[in-house]
Amino acid sequence: MTKPLIGITTFNRKNDYGRPMSGVQHTYIRAVVQGGGIPILIPAILDEEDRNDLYALVQGILFTGGGDISIKYFDGEDHPKISEVDDARDVTEISLLKKTAADGKPFLAVCRGVQVMNVALGGTLYTHIPDQFPNALRHDNQEFTEIVHPVNITEDSRMAEIFGETLLRVNSLHHQGLKDVASSLRVVGHAPDGMIEAVELPEHPYAMGVQWHPEWLTDQPAMRRLFKSFVDASKK
Ligand code: MN
Repeated sequence: MTKPLIGITTFNRKNDYGRPMSGVQHTYIRAVVQGGGIPILIPAILDEEDRNDLYALVQGILFTGGGDISIKYFDGEDHPKISEVDDARDVTEISLLKKTAADGKPFLAVCRGVQVMNVALGGTLYTHIPDQFPNALRHDNQEFTEIVHPVNITEDSRMAEIFGETLLRVNSLHHQGLKDVASSLRVVGHAPDGMIEAVELPEHPYAMGVQWHPEWLTDQPAMRRLFKSFVDASKK
């Protein structure tokens, strides 16, 4: 097999009959396939030993979007708008993120994923942007395909190299955001209101986090280049 195996994190939910299931939106799977990888889903219900065995099989990990991270992991401010907290998923993703960061295994972290990236490495989050971030733009739009705000990417960053441009047009479906940034991370992208939208882990072979949803914007060449660069890095 010449294509790399890319692990994709999943949510836990109940179906219409109340039965527990694992899932992920197809856009993530399609973006990995389009980038040249073979997707494999990582259920958020495995014990540590099996999770680590699955981790060892994959050459890269895509940390996907989803509900809010429990405030207990970053001593966060409680807020009535915090929703869809899932401890099994938090444990799974925080553990996997720490391993990928430490081992130099390539990863791409999207939306909730970039928040997991920051929290796992010691950072904190705004738990509801409209009440905690002064003069914030609207970031909690409900439409994945709608362009909501620009993101300015730092010129000398690896992300600028990957995207091939420094002014991106992105969607925005988050009500939480990065507050105190983990000391190991470099902030490389902002929205016009100052909200952090992109971070990377210098010295790591490939560790990128974005607050928007590039998997819904693959009509843009820059977003396709992000997934391709991630899969290419996972081949090494
Ligand atoms: Mn945003």
